[in-house]
Amino acid sequence: MTMNVSGYATKSAKDNLAPFRFDRRDPRDNDVVIEILYCGVCHSDLHQARNDWGGSIYPMVPGHEIIGRVISVGPKVKRFKKGDNVGVGCMVDSCQHCDSCKEGLEQYCEEFPTFTYNAVDRHDKMPMYGGYSDKIVVSDKFVVKIPKNLDLKGAAPLLCAGITTWSPLRHWKVGKNSKVAVIGLGGLGHMALKLAKALGADVTLFTRSRSKEKDARRLGANCVVLSTDEKQMKAVKSKFDLIIDTVPSAHDINPYLPTLSLSGTLVLVGYLGDLDPLLNTVSLIMGRKSVAGSVIGGIAETQEMLDFCGKHGITPDVEVIKIQDINKAYERLLKSDVKYRFVIDMASLKG
Ligand code: NAP
Ligand code: ZN
Repeated sequence: MTMNVSGYATKSAKDNLAPFRFDRRDPRDNDVVIEILYCGVCHSDLHQARNDWGGSIYPMVPGHEIIGRVISVGPKVKRFKKGDNVGVGCMVDSCQHCDSCKEGLEQYCEEFPTFTYNAVDRHDKMPMYGGYSDKIVVSDKFVVKIPKNLDLKGAAPLLCAGITTWSPLRHWKVGKNSKVAVIGLGGLGHMALKLAKALGADVTLFTRSRSKEKDARRLGANCVVLSTDEKQMKAVKSKFDLIIDTVPSAHDINPYLPTLSLSGTLVLVGYLGDLDPLLNTVSLIMGRKSVAGSVIGGIAETQEMLDFCGKHGITPDVEVIKIQDINKAYERLLKSDVKYRFVIDMASLKG
């Protein structure tokens, strides 16, 4: 017997999201059944709903910043029990035996991880539906614990925006003497500021939006650079050990390379695709600099980030919306008009 679930889906790249009922699989022995309380709205939801990356599967229920409460667990589940507050992020499964999975880097699974939606289950080949819904069934290995002191609606964006910025900060060993810059103050960008600051770094925001300066400083930036102002760009020449670029669309990264220090790295986490204009390598070669990429983070690392946020009292700045307002929220996201993450209150599904 499958479980009937209520959610919001889009039927094509051109449609709005609308109410949708669908079935989730029968819980397996190692599954956790979760009542979804909140779900963050990531720019990746919008990219996939509108097929920006190609290959989207419809109907699509987006949502991969899931916070919920455990309703029941399979007989083999030991880490969770009914009533626990839990989170689910962008992945719900992986092969579990390749070198990446063995290292806890399931996001780089050599057989490709199973994403939370816009994917098919690797065992029964059923379509996967995401968090804009009232229940989800997830293998216990891909469920994380939410620290008690974190506000639940505020914690939702940690499951993607939080881990996607945490993972490069940790990989490039950001700490007290680091100089970090973040490009773009949206969902990911605002988490990058908060987390880099909490790790002790000196933090700069590159933005196109002069109006975001005050917020950026409140969120942890020591310095704000208007990326369209050449003079301001020159003033931070050779400054940064790490730049985290969260811009969602094709953009020119060449102007940022001179702002990297010797051996510095610009890590792309936003845009997927060909760079336009092309990358000029002079600045890279003359300063042993790198341009890198990074996708979300592993499950153990996600738990580490959540625990760090619990310890330091870090939660995203969220604007809570009803599911009925999701299409308006997407339009605002396209205009960079969000402070700084929409989170859907899933109780509104009943409204
Ligand atoms: P978001 O909330 O829309 O924020 C993006 C920010 O980038 C905007 O607020 C804006 O900041 C800046 N921006 C937007 N368009 C720009 C343009 N054309 N040129 C320069 N700057 C621009 O998006 P998000 O949810 O943070 O997601 C950002 C990107 O990361 C998306 O592409 C998403 O798919 C991707 N993502 C990747 C991963 C991963 O694992 N690698 C995980 C999650 C999301 P300013 O107003 O400050 O300029
Ligand atoms: Zn996301």
